[in-house]
Amino acid sequence: MSDPMRTPEDVLATMAAQRVAGWPDWHPEDYCHRCGGRNASWCVDSDRFNAAMGQPAEHRWNGIVCPGCFVELHEAATGLTASWRLVPDTPFRHTAVRRGGNRE
Ligand SMILES: [Zn+2]
Repeated sequence: MSDPMRTPEDVLATMAAQRVAGWPDWHPEDYCHRCGGRNASWCVDSDRFNAAMGQPAEHRWNGIVCPGCFVELHEAATGLTASWRLVPDTPFRHTAVRRGGNRE
């Protein structure tokens, strides 16, 4: 991810220019296109995604939202409140954190 100190407001203000320019400084999924917060690499079954976002032609925010926004949209669209399971996808590389916060 790029500069972690950017505010969501700054990200959203800059996002359109990045998109027009072909994402020269960011990966398009580094940030949520709805709230401007940092985004992780994640996925969910397409039926759940489409339940939250509508059919693919209807996807707002370039179809890129963070997990928190996805859950909010899913609840609003379906009326269902659920607990979500977050698990690492394979291959998963464990990165140990040493005392003092340094990664190995
Ligand atoms: Zn978001």
